[in-house]
Amino acid sequence: MRHTKTVTVPEHTEEITEYITCDLCGAKKQYYGFTQETVNIRYDCFIPGSFVVDAKHEKIVVDMCPTCFKTVFLAWLKEKYNFVPDCVSI
Ligand SMILES: [Zn+2]
Repeated sequence: MRHTKTVTVPEHTEEITEYITCDLCGAKKQYYGFTQETVNIRYDCFIPGSFVVDAKHEKIVVDMCPTCFKTVFLAWLKEKYNFVPDCVSI
């Protein structure tokens, strides 16, 4: 059973993700707060410097469709590094 209550939400605008495109082939996938059709690789690193103002925040984001992930990225890992990831059913 869902229990509800009335709340006041002030009007505002914000940027929300509408869709995601594959960075390799450009395939467009609709985004509904999540998508099961996109692979996201995110590198987020804070590199401290001598002083706080010298610190760097490095962020790299790669979005791929499942086809490019399997046929391009995983194929490259296998060819270049002979790496084959574990395939786990959940
Ligand atoms: Zn793709």
